[in-house]
Amino acid sequence: MAQIAVLGAGMVGISTALALQDRGHHCVVVDRSPPGRETSYGNAGLIQAEAVEPYALPANPLSLMRMAFGAKNAVELNWRSLPSEAPALFSYWRSSLPSSLQKVIPIWQQLVSEAVPRHADLIAAAGADNLIRRDGYWEAHDTQRGLAAAILEAERRQQRYAAAFTLADPATLARAEPGLRRPLAGAIHWTAPWSCLAPGELVASYAQLFAKRGGRIVVGDALSLKPVGKGWHVAGEGAEHVVIALGPWSPALLKTFGYHVPMVRKRGYHRRYAGDAGLRRPMLLADHSVVLSPMLEGLQIATAAELSAAAPQDHPRQLARGEAAARSLVDVGAPIAPSPWSGTRPCLPGMLPLVCQAKRHPGLWLNFGHGHQGFTLGPVTAARLARAMDGDASAITGLDGGVR
Ligand SMILES: Cc1cc2nc3c(=O)[nH]c(=O)nc-3n(C[C@H](O)[C@H](O)[C@H](O)COP(=O)(O)OP(=O)(O)OC[C@H]3O[C@@H](n4cnc5c(N)ncnc54)[C@H](O)[C@@H]3O)c2cc1C
Repeated sequence: MAQIAVLGAGMVGISTALALQDRGHHCVVVDRSPPGRETSYGNAGLIQAEAVEPYALPANPLSLMRMAFGAKNAVELNWRSLPSEAPALFSYWRSSLPSSLQKVIPIWQQLVSEAVPRHADLIAAAGADNLIRRDGYWEAHDTQRGLAAAILEAERRQQRYAAAFTLADPATLARAEPGLRRPLAGAIHWTAPWSCLAPGELVASYAQLFAKRGGRIVVGDALSLKPVGKGWHVAGEGAEHVVIALGPWSPALLKTFGYHVPMVRKRGYHRRYAGDAGLRRPMLLADHSVVLSPMLEGLQIATAAELSAAAPQDHPRQLARGEAAARSLVDVGAPIAPSPWSGTRPCLPGMLPLVCQAKRHPGLWLNFGHGHQGFTLGPVTAARLARAMDGDASAITGLDGGVR
Protein backbone atom coordinates (compact mmCIF):
# COMPACT_ATOMS: atom_id res chain seq x y z
CA MET A 1 0.00 0.00 0.00
CA ALA A 2 1.69 3.17 -1.19
CA GLN A 3 1.07 6.89 -0.86
CA ILE A 4 0.50 8.14 -4.41
CA ALA A 5 -0.09 11.64 -5.78
CA VAL A 6 -2.04 11.83 -9.02
CA LEU A 7 -1.50 15.12 -10.84
CA GLY A 8 -4.57 16.17 -12.82
CA ALA A 9 -8.28 15.80 -12.09
CA GLY A 10 -9.56 15.23 -15.61
CA MET A 11 -11.13 11.95 -16.71
CA VAL A 12 -7.70 10.32 -16.82
CA GLY A 13 -6.43 11.54 -13.42
CA ILE A 14 -9.64 10.86 -11.49
CA SER A 15 -9.99 7.41 -13.07
CA THR A 16 -6.35 6.68 -12.17
CA ALA A 17 -6.92 7.68 -8.56
CA LEU A 18 -10.00 5.42 -8.39
CA ALA A 19 -8.12 2.48 -9.90
CA LEU A 20 -5.21 2.86 -7.48
CA GLN A 21 -7.58 3.26 -4.54
CA ASP A 22 -9.37 0.11 -5.66
CA ARG A 23 -6.07 -1.74 -5.30
CA GLY A 24 -5.64 -0.48 -1.75
CA HIS A 25 -3.35 2.52 -2.25
CA HIS A 26 -3.71 5.89 -0.50
CA CYS A 27 -4.14 8.58 -3.14
CA VAL A 28 -4.25 12.30 -3.27
CA VAL A 29 -5.25 14.13 -6.47
CA VAL A 30 -3.68 17.53 -7.15
CA ASP A 31 -5.25 20.01 -9.55
CA ARG A 32 -5.40 23.77 -9.81
CA SER A 33 -9.10 23.55 -10.77
CA PRO A 34 -12.04 21.46 -9.59
CA PRO A 35 -12.37 17.99 -11.21
CA GLY A 36 -13.43 17.81 -14.84
CA ARG A 37 -13.20 21.49 -15.76
CA GLU A 38 -10.76 21.36 -18.69
CA THR A 39 -10.59 19.05 -21.73
CA SER A 40 -12.74 16.49 -19.96
CA TYR A 41 -15.43 19.15 -19.63
CA GLY A 42 -15.65 20.36 -23.19
CA ASN A 43 -15.61 17.20 -25.26
CA ALA A 44 -18.48 15.69 -27.23
CA GLY A 45 -19.25 13.24 -24.42
CA LEU A 46 -19.04 10.06 -26.50
CA ILE A 47 -17.85 6.84 -24.90
CA GLN A 48 -16.71 5.43 -28.18
CA ALA A 49 -17.02 1.66 -28.54
CA GLU A 50 -16.92 2.09 -32.33
CA ALA A 51 -13.60 4.02 -32.42
CA VAL A 52 -11.69 0.82 -33.10
CA GLU A 53 -8.85 2.47 -35.00
CA PRO A 54 -6.94 5.58 -33.89
CA TYR A 55 -7.12 8.85 -35.84
CA ALA A 56 -4.33 8.44 -38.37
CA LEU A 57 -3.32 10.98 -41.00
CA PRO A 58 -4.03 9.98 -44.60
CA ALA A 59 -0.97 8.28 -46.08
CA ASN A 60 -1.95 9.39 -49.57
CA PRO A 61 -0.43 12.89 -50.28
CA LEU A 62 -3.51 14.05 -52.20
CA SER A 63 -5.88 13.21 -49.33
CA LEU A 64 -3.41 14.83 -46.93
CA MET A 65 -3.43 18.07 -48.96
CA ARG A 66 -7.23 18.06 -49.16
CA MET A 67 -7.38 17.66 -45.39
CA ALA A 68 -4.81 20.43 -44.83
CA PHE A 69 -6.87 22.78 -46.99
CA GLY A 70 -9.97 22.19 -44.91
CA ALA A 71 -11.98 19.56 -46.83
CA LYS A 72 -15.15 18.70 -44.91
CA ASN A 73 -14.20 21.21 -42.21
CA ALA A 74 -12.15 18.41 -40.57
CA VAL A 75 -8.85 20.25 -40.07
CA GLU A 76 -7.97 23.91 -39.74
CA LEU A 77 -4.26 24.43 -40.20
CA ASN A 78 -2.69 27.52 -38.72
CA TRP A 79 0.12 28.03 -41.24
CA ARG A 80 2.00 30.39 -38.92
CA SER A 81 2.20 27.65 -36.26
CA LEU A 82 3.46 25.13 -38.81
CA PRO A 83 7.22 25.57 -38.23
CA SER A 84 6.92 24.85 -34.48
CA GLU A 85 4.41 22.01 -35.02
CA ALA A 86 6.13 20.43 -38.02
CA PRO A 87 8.42 17.91 -36.21
CA ALA A 88 5.54 16.38 -34.22
CA LEU A 89 3.29 16.41 -37.31
CA PHE A 90 5.94 14.69 -39.40
CA SER A 91 6.37 12.01 -36.77
CA TYR A 92 2.55 11.62 -36.65
CA TRP A 93 2.46 11.23 -40.44
CA ARG A 94 5.19 8.57 -40.32
CA SER A 95 3.31 6.66 -37.62
CA SER A 96 0.23 6.83 -39.84
CA LEU A 97 1.91 4.90 -42.68
CA PRO A 98 0.35 1.45 -43.01
CA SER A 99 3.42 -0.47 -41.78
CA SER A 100 3.50 1.46 -38.47
CA LEU A 101 -0.26 1.80 -38.10
CA GLN A 102 -0.75 -1.97 -38.29
CA LYS A 103 1.30 -2.32 -35.08
CA VAL A 104 -0.71 0.32 -33.25
CA ILE A 105 -4.23 -0.79 -34.21
CA PRO A 106 -4.42 -4.06 -32.19
CA ILE A 107 -3.24 -2.29 -29.02
CA TRP A 108 -5.69 0.56 -29.59
CA GLN A 109 -8.56 -1.74 -30.42
CA GLN A 110 -8.02 -3.75 -27.25
CA LEU A 111 -8.05 -0.56 -25.15
CA VAL A 112 -11.28 0.67 -26.76
CA SER A 113 -12.97 -2.70 -26.23
CA GLU A 114 -12.43 -2.29 -22.47
CA ALA A 115 -13.94 1.21 -22.26
CA VAL A 116 -17.71 0.73 -21.99
CA PRO A 117 -17.43 -2.03 -19.32
CA ARG A 118 -14.99 0.09 -17.26
CA HIS A 119 -17.27 3.12 -17.42
CA ALA A 120 -20.29 0.94 -16.65
CA ASP A 121 -18.75 -0.10 -13.32
CA LEU A 122 -17.85 3.47 -12.39
CA ILE A 123 -21.20 4.92 -13.48
CA ALA A 124 -23.03 2.35 -11.33
CA ALA A 125 -20.76 2.94 -8.33
CA ALA A 126 -20.99 6.73 -8.68
CA GLY A 127 -24.76 6.69 -9.14
CA ALA A 128 -24.33 8.69 -12.35
CA ASP A 129 -26.91 6.87 -14.44
CA ASN A 130 -28.84 10.10 -15.05
CA LEU A 131 -25.89 11.45 -17.08
CA ILE A 132 -25.69 8.55 -19.53
CA ARG A 133 -27.47 7.47 -22.72
CA ARG A 134 -26.84 3.98 -24.00
CA ASP A 135 -28.23 4.20 -27.51
CA GLY A 136 -25.24 5.14 -29.67
CA TYR A 137 -25.02 8.05 -32.09
CA TRP A 138 -25.79 8.93 -35.70
CA GLU A 139 -23.16 9.43 -38.37
CA ALA A 140 -25.29 11.46 -40.77
CA HIS A 141 -24.49 12.09 -44.45
CA ASP A 142 -25.71 14.76 -46.88
CA THR A 143 -24.89 12.90 -50.09
CA GLN A 144 -25.49 9.38 -51.43
CA ARG A 145 -21.85 9.23 -52.48
CA GLY A 146 -20.58 10.06 -48.99
CA LEU A 147 -23.03 7.63 -47.42
CA ALA A 148 -21.99 4.80 -49.75
CA ALA A 149 -18.31 5.29 -48.87
CA ALA A 150 -19.16 5.42 -45.16
CA ILE A 151 -21.18 2.19 -45.40
CA LEU A 152 -18.20 0.41 -46.97
CA GLU A 153 -15.99 1.63 -44.12
CA ALA A 154 -18.59 0.63 -41.50
CA GLU A 155 -18.86 -2.85 -43.02
CA ARG A 156 -15.08 -3.18 -42.92
CA ARG A 157 -15.06 -2.29 -39.23
CA GLN A 158 -17.95 -4.63 -38.54
CA GLN A 159 -16.24 -7.57 -40.24
CA ARG A 160 -12.85 -6.90 -38.74
CA TYR A 161 -13.73 -5.75 -35.22
CA ALA A 162 -17.43 -6.57 -34.79
CA ALA A 163 -18.22 -2.84 -34.52
CA ALA A 164 -22.03 -2.82 -34.46
CA PHE A 165 -24.12 -0.51 -36.64
CA THR A 166 -27.45 -0.30 -38.43
CA LEU A 167 -28.43 1.81 -41.42
CA ALA A 168 -31.14 4.45 -41.45
CA ASP A 169 -32.56 5.55 -44.80
CA PRO A 170 -33.99 9.10 -45.03
CA ALA A 171 -37.49 8.02 -43.96
CA THR A 172 -36.26 5.97 -40.99
CA LEU A 173 -34.01 8.82 -39.91
CA ALA A 174 -36.83 11.36 -40.19
CA ARG A 175 -39.07 9.12 -38.05
CA ALA A 176 -36.36 8.62 -35.43
CA GLU A 177 -35.44 12.32 -35.38
CA PRO A 178 -38.63 14.30 -36.07
CA GLY A 179 -36.78 17.56 -35.32
CA LEU A 180 -34.84 17.34 -38.64
CA ARG A 181 -35.85 20.16 -41.00
CA ARG A 182 -34.74 18.54 -44.23
CA PRO A 183 -34.04 15.02 -45.48
CA LEU A 184 -30.52 13.66 -45.36
CA ALA A 185 -29.08 10.94 -47.60
CA GLY A 186 -29.13 8.67 -44.57
CA ALA A 187 -27.14 7.76 -41.49
CA ILE A 188 -25.12 5.04 -39.90
CA HIS A 189 -26.37 4.36 -36.41
CA TRP A 190 -23.38 3.23 -34.34
CA THR A 191 -25.28 1.33 -31.70
CA ALA A 192 -22.62 0.37 -29.14
CA PRO A 193 -21.23 3.76 -27.99
CA TRP A 194 -22.67 5.50 -24.97
CA SER A 195 -22.96 9.24 -24.59
CA CYS A 196 -22.83 11.61 -21.67
CA LEU A 197 -25.20 14.51 -21.05
CA ALA A 198 -22.62 16.52 -19.08
CA PRO A 199 -19.01 15.29 -19.45
CA GLY A 200 -17.60 17.50 -16.70
CA GLU A 201 -20.33 16.34 -14.33
CA LEU A 202 -19.45 12.71 -14.96
CA VAL A 203 -15.82 13.37 -13.96
CA ALA A 204 -17.09 15.28 -10.92
CA SER A 205 -19.28 12.32 -9.93
CA TYR A 206 -16.31 9.93 -10.29
CA ALA A 207 -14.33 12.39 -8.11
CA GLN A 208 -17.07 12.31 -5.47
CA LEU A 209 -16.89 8.52 -5.50
CA PHE A 210 -13.12 8.73 -4.95
CA ALA A 211 -13.65 11.15 -2.03
CA LYS A 212 -16.43 8.98 -0.56
CA ARG A 213 -14.02 6.05 -0.56
CA GLY A 214 -11.49 8.07 1.43
CA GLY A 215 -9.47 9.82 -1.30
CA ARG A 216 -8.39 13.45 -1.06
CA ILE A 217 -8.41 16.14 -3.74
CA VAL A 218 -6.25 19.19 -3.10
CA VAL A 219 -5.87 22.45 -4.99
CA GLY A 220 -2.29 23.05 -6.04
CA ASP A 221 0.21 23.55 -8.83
CA ALA A 222 1.59 20.36 -10.35
CA LEU A 223 4.64 22.32 -11.48
CA SER A 224 5.72 22.40 -7.81
CA LEU A 225 6.67 18.70 -8.13
CA LYS A 226 10.15 17.98 -6.70
CA PRO A 227 12.01 14.74 -5.92
CA VAL A 228 12.74 14.51 -2.19
CA GLY A 229 14.82 11.60 -0.91
CA LYS A 230 13.30 8.41 -2.36
CA GLY A 231 9.92 10.08 -2.89
CA TRP A 232 8.26 13.25 -4.10
CA HIS A 233 6.80 16.51 -2.90
CA VAL A 234 4.02 18.36 -4.68
CA ALA A 235 1.62 21.07 -3.53
CA GLY A 236 2.55 20.47 0.13
CA GLU A 237 1.95 16.70 -0.14
CA GLY A 238 4.54 13.93 0.21
CA ALA A 239 4.25 10.78 -1.92
CA GLU A 240 6.22 7.65 -2.75
CA HIS A 241 4.91 7.64 -6.32
CA VAL A 242 3.51 10.31 -8.62
CA VAL A 243 1.31 9.92 -11.70
CA ILE A 244 1.34 12.70 -14.30
CA ALA A 245 -2.17 12.88 -15.78
CA LEU A 246 -2.20 16.51 -16.88
CA GLY A 247 -3.57 15.89 -20.38
CA PRO A 248 -2.21 18.55 -22.79
CA TRP A 249 -0.11 20.13 -20.00
CA SER A 250 1.85 16.94 -19.26
CA PRO A 251 4.84 17.60 -21.59
CA ALA A 252 5.48 20.97 -19.89
CA LEU A 253 5.96 19.31 -16.49
CA LEU A 254 8.06 16.49 -17.95
CA LYS A 255 10.31 19.05 -19.61
CA THR A 256 11.38 20.28 -16.16
CA PHE A 257 12.72 16.74 -15.55
CA GLY A 258 14.58 16.66 -18.87
CA TYR A 259 12.09 14.66 -20.98
CA HIS A 260 11.05 15.85 -24.41
CA VAL A 261 7.59 14.56 -25.35
CA PRO A 262 6.38 15.91 -28.71
CA MET A 263 2.64 16.47 -28.80
CA VAL A 264 0.30 17.21 -31.68
CA ARG A 265 -2.08 19.77 -30.23
CA LYS A 266 -5.46 19.45 -31.85
CA ARG A 267 -7.59 22.27 -30.58
CA GLY A 268 -11.35 21.79 -30.55
CA TYR A 269 -14.15 24.25 -29.87
CA HIS A 270 -17.67 23.86 -28.65
CA ARG A 271 -20.61 26.11 -28.10
CA ARG A 272 -23.81 25.30 -26.23
CA TYR A 273 -27.22 26.59 -27.25
CA ALA A 274 -30.55 26.86 -25.45
CA GLY A 275 -32.83 23.85 -26.01
CA ASP A 276 -31.91 20.45 -27.41
CA ALA A 277 -32.88 21.22 -31.05
CA GLY A 278 -35.24 18.25 -30.85
CA LEU A 279 -32.36 15.78 -31.24
CA ARG A 280 -32.85 12.48 -29.45
CA ARG A 281 -29.27 11.24 -29.64
CA PRO A 282 -25.90 12.76 -30.68
CA MET A 283 -25.32 13.26 -34.39
CA LEU A 284 -22.01 13.55 -36.23
CA LEU A 285 -22.54 15.65 -39.36
CA ALA A 286 -19.92 13.80 -41.38
CA ASP A 287 -19.79 16.33 -44.23
CA HIS A 288 -19.17 19.21 -41.82
CA SER A 289 -17.09 17.47 -39.10
CA VAL A 290 -19.12 18.65 -36.12
CA VAL A 291 -20.88 16.64 -33.43
CA LEU A 292 -24.28 17.83 -32.25
CA SER A 293 -24.90 16.54 -28.74
CA PRO A 294 -28.13 17.09 -26.83
CA MET A 295 -26.81 17.73 -23.31
CA LEU A 296 -28.32 18.73 -19.96
CA GLU A 297 -27.40 22.36 -20.55
CA GLY A 298 -28.67 22.43 -24.14
CA LEU A 299 -27.46 21.48 -27.60
CA GLN A 300 -23.66 21.35 -27.89
CA ILE A 301 -21.90 21.74 -31.25
CA ALA A 302 -18.28 20.53 -31.08
CA THR A 303 -15.65 20.90 -33.79
CA ALA A 304 -12.91 18.70 -35.20
CA ALA A 305 -9.21 19.67 -35.13
CA GLU A 306 -7.49 23.02 -35.39
CA LEU A 307 -3.74 22.42 -35.64
CA SER A 308 -2.45 25.49 -33.91
CA ALA A 309 -0.02 26.43 -31.18
CA ALA A 310 -1.59 29.91 -31.02
CA ALA A 311 -4.19 31.14 -28.53
CA PRO A 312 -7.81 30.12 -29.23
CA GLN A 313 -9.71 32.20 -31.77
CA ASP A 314 -12.67 34.28 -30.66
CA HIS A 315 -14.61 33.36 -33.80
CA PRO A 316 -13.36 29.94 -34.88
CA ARG A 317 -14.18 29.25 -38.51
CA GLN A 318 -14.78 25.52 -38.05
CA LEU A 319 -17.43 26.29 -35.46
CA ALA A 320 -19.06 28.97 -37.63
CA ARG A 321 -19.26 26.53 -40.55
CA GLY A 322 -20.53 23.74 -38.30
CA GLU A 323 -23.13 26.00 -36.72
CA ALA A 324 -24.40 27.06 -40.18
CA ALA A 325 -24.73 23.39 -41.18
CA ALA A 326 -26.53 22.59 -37.92
CA ARG A 327 -28.95 25.53 -38.33
CA SER A 328 -29.91 24.30 -41.78
CA LEU A 329 -30.80 20.94 -40.26
CA VAL A 330 -32.29 21.54 -36.81
CA ASP A 331 -33.69 24.36 -34.71
CA VAL A 332 -30.57 25.67 -32.93
CA GLY A 333 -31.38 28.06 -30.06
CA ALA A 334 -29.44 31.10 -28.87
CA PRO A 335 -25.89 30.53 -27.58
CA ILE A 336 -25.76 30.07 -23.80
CA ALA A 337 -22.29 31.57 -23.23
CA PRO A 338 -20.93 34.76 -24.84
CA SER A 339 -17.95 33.00 -26.45
CA PRO A 340 -17.07 29.46 -27.54
CA TRP A 341 -15.22 27.05 -25.26
CA SER A 342 -11.87 25.78 -26.46
CA GLY A 343 -9.64 22.91 -25.38
CA THR A 344 -6.77 20.85 -26.73
CA ARG A 345 -6.84 17.16 -27.50
CA PRO A 346 -3.56 15.75 -26.14
CA CYS A 347 -2.45 13.75 -29.20
CA LEU A 348 0.87 11.94 -29.33
CA PRO A 349 2.49 11.32 -32.72
CA GLY A 350 2.45 7.55 -32.14
CA MET A 351 -1.34 7.74 -31.52
CA LEU A 352 -1.21 5.64 -28.32
CA PRO A 353 -1.36 7.19 -24.84
CA LEU A 354 1.79 7.08 -22.73
CA VAL A 355 1.19 4.75 -19.81
CA CYS A 356 4.48 3.86 -18.18
CA GLN A 357 7.17 4.78 -15.67
CA ALA A 358 9.57 7.59 -16.63
CA LYS A 359 12.84 6.03 -17.76
CA ARG A 360 15.22 7.95 -15.47
CA HIS A 361 12.93 8.68 -12.50
CA PRO A 362 11.70 5.65 -10.55
CA GLY A 363 8.35 6.40 -8.94
CA LEU A 364 7.37 8.93 -11.63
CA TRP A 365 4.56 7.47 -13.72
CA LEU A 366 2.83 8.80 -16.84
CA ASN A 367 -0.76 8.50 -18.01
CA PHE A 368 -1.58 11.02 -20.72
CA GLY A 369 -1.83 11.55 -24.48
CA HIS A 370 -5.27 10.03 -25.08
CA GLY A 371 -5.93 12.33 -28.02
CA HIS A 372 -9.42 12.18 -29.50
CA GLN A 373 -10.61 9.50 -27.07
CA GLY A 374 -9.49 10.41 -23.54
CA PHE A 375 -13.02 10.65 -22.21
CA THR A 376 -13.58 7.10 -23.45
CA LEU A 377 -10.22 5.63 -22.45
CA GLY A 378 -9.54 7.29 -19.07
CA PRO A 379 -10.80 4.39 -16.94
CA VAL A 380 -9.07 1.83 -19.22
CA THR A 381 -5.51 3.14 -19.03
CA ALA A 382 -6.13 3.95 -15.36
CA ALA A 383 -6.81 0.28 -14.56
CA ARG A 384 -3.80 -0.80 -16.60
CA LEU A 385 -1.43 1.69 -15.00
CA ALA A 386 -2.61 0.66 -11.52
CA ARG A 387 -1.79 -2.98 -12.36
CA ALA A 388 1.63 -1.97 -13.68
CA MET A 389 2.39 0.05 -10.54
CA ASP A 390 1.66 -3.11 -8.57
CA GLY A 391 4.25 -4.98 -10.62
CA ASP A 392 2.31 -6.37 -13.60
CA ALA A 393 4.33 -4.86 -16.46
CA SER A 394 2.29 -6.82 -19.02
CA ALA A 395 -0.66 -4.48 -18.38
CA ILE A 396 1.07 -1.64 -20.24
CA THR A 397 2.85 -3.50 -23.02
CA GLY A 398 3.19 -1.23 -26.05
CA LEU A 399 2.24 1.91 -24.15
CA ASP A 400 5.68 3.27 -23.19
CA GLY A 401 6.20 5.26 -26.41
CA GLY A 402 9.98 5.22 -25.98
CA VAL A 403 10.08 8.42 -23.86
CA ARG A 404 13.63 9.72 -23.64
C1 LIG B 1 -13.87 19.33 -28.90
C2 LIG B 1 -13.44 18.01 -28.30
C3 LIG B 1 -14.28 16.91 -28.41
C4 LIG B 1 -13.90 15.68 -27.87
N1 LIG B 1 -14.78 14.63 -27.89
C5 LIG B 1 -14.46 13.47 -27.28
C6 LIG B 1 -15.39 12.41 -27.20
O1 LIG B 1 -16.55 12.52 -27.64
N2 LIG B 1 -15.01 11.24 -26.63
C7 LIG B 1 -13.77 11.08 -26.10
O2 LIG B 1 -13.46 9.99 -25.62
N3 LIG B 1 -12.86 12.08 -26.09
C8 LIG B 1 -13.18 13.28 -26.68
N4 LIG B 1 -12.28 14.31 -26.69
C9 LIG B 1 -10.94 14.11 -26.10
C10 LIG B 1 -10.99 14.15 -24.58
O3 LIG B 1 -11.75 15.25 -24.14
C11 LIG B 1 -9.57 14.22 -23.99
O4 LIG B 1 -8.75 13.22 -24.55
C12 LIG B 1 -9.62 13.99 -22.47
O5 LIG B 1 -10.56 14.87 -21.87
C13 LIG B 1 -8.25 14.20 -21.84
O6 LIG B 1 -8.42 14.02 -20.46
P1 LIG B 1 -7.26 14.30 -19.45
O7 LIG B 1 -7.72 13.93 -18.10
O8 LIG B 1 -6.00 13.69 -19.98
O9 LIG B 1 -7.02 15.90 -19.56
P2 LIG B 1 -7.85 17.10 -18.89
O10 LIG B 1 -9.29 16.77 -18.80
O11 LIG B 1 -7.47 18.35 -19.60
O12 LIG B 1 -7.27 17.14 -17.42
C14 LIG B 1 -5.99 17.68 -17.14
C15 LIG B 1 -6.06 18.36 -15.78
O13 LIG B 1 -4.75 18.85 -15.45
C16 LIG B 1 -4.94 20.05 -14.72
N5 LIG B 1 -3.70 20.83 -14.77
C17 LIG B 1 -3.00 21.23 -15.86
N6 LIG B 1 -1.88 21.89 -15.48
C18 LIG B 1 -1.87 21.89 -14.12
C19 LIG B 1 -0.96 22.41 -13.14
N7 LIG B 1 0.18 23.05 -13.47
N8 LIG B 1 -1.26 22.22 -11.84
C20 LIG B 1 -2.40 21.57 -11.47
N9 LIG B 1 -3.28 21.07 -12.34
C21 LIG B 1 -3.02 21.21 -13.66
C22 LIG B 1 -6.10 20.74 -15.42
O14 LIG B 1 -6.69 21.70 -14.56
C23 LIG B 1 -7.00 19.55 -15.74
O15 LIG B 1 -7.99 19.35 -14.76
C24 LIG B 1 -12.63 15.55 -27.23
C25 LIG B 1 -11.80 16.67 -27.12
C26 LIG B 1 -12.20 17.89 -27.63
C27 LIG B 1 -11.30 19.08 -27.47
